Order: sequence, then structure tokens, then C-alpha cells
Amino acid sequence: MSTFMVNIVTPDGLIYEHEANFLVANTEAGSLGILPKHCPLIAPLKIDAVRIDREGDINDWIAVNGGVIEVRDNVVSIIANSAETEENIDISRAEQARKRAEQKIEAAKNEQNQSIDMARAEVALYRALNRLNVANKRR
Ligand code: ATP
Repeated sequence: MSTFMVNIVTPDGLIYEHEANFLVANTEAGSLGILPKHCPLIAPLKIDAVRIDREGDINDWIAVNGGVIEVRDNVVSIIANSAETEENIDISRAEQARKRAEQKIEAAKNEQNQSIDMARAEVALYRALNRLNVANKRR
């Protein structure tokens, strides 16, 4: 079966590099499935899990916190401010981040000018929920 390369890069460096058969990512325009020899594209990503299917029925799940996906020459590159593989997620840290974000959302509801604080807290909550969701997929 033909394959393609997947690289995921953050400011921390290359966090994932594997050959894959299939990849599913959630872009701002909807869900995107990539097979080998996909046409070139660049799309902004939502804060969500990316699933990578590899040889031997292996499914890797990565918590990707926004960023961009680029497909070119049978290489998929994801560039994000932060991204974690299933095994690198610290669950208690994500739980704490989730609680902090929920408290900030509650506090922002009572503020007069709530839009910026509320938006920041909501994005932090999405990141925490994304990490908890991906950590739950651990084999
Ligand atoms: P926190 O409030 O816990 O710092 P955050 O969403 O603000 O979370 P980011 O700014 O997205 O964190 O990421 C900062 C760095 O910390 C990145 O390297 C990211 O991979 C890492 N990171 C954040 N949360 C976790 C986690 N629960 N497990 C492992 N790494 C994490």
C-alpha cells in the first residue's frame, strides 16, 4: 500500500514524524481526510485531535492546538503553537487547565467588558478538553 509522510512541528521542535496510510484532521472548513498522493493544499486547523493511521493497524492520536496543515509532494506538515502525542499528555495538568478555564469563564460572565477574557478562557478550555480527549485514547 502506498504511504505519505506526516511531520508535526511546534516551537518545541519536531514532535511527530511517521509514514502514514491515512490522516484525518479538523480544519476550519470541516473534516479533511488525506490519502497518499493528495493534491496540494494549505488550511487552518481547529483545536482538535488529528488521527494518523499507519501500517499494522496503528492509529496515532495527536492533540493539535490550532495551526496550519500543508499537503505537498506526498508530505503532510502540521505547524502549530502546541501539539502533544497521546503518551506525552499530562492528564492532571490538563484537568487543572480545564478547571482554571471554567472558573475564568464563570468570572468573565460577571464582567462588564467580557469579550476578551471570555474568548481567551474558551480557547484555553478547548485546548484542555482536546488534551483530555486525546489522552483517553491511549492504548
Ligand atoms: P497550561 O495552562 O497547562 O500551560 P496551555 O494550554 O496554556 O496549558 P500551551 O500554551 O498550549 O499550554 O502549551 C505550552 C507548552 O506546554 C507546550 O509545549 C505544550 O505542548 C505543553 N503542554 C500544555 N499542556 C500540556 C499537557 N497537559 N500535557 C503535556 N504538555 C502540555
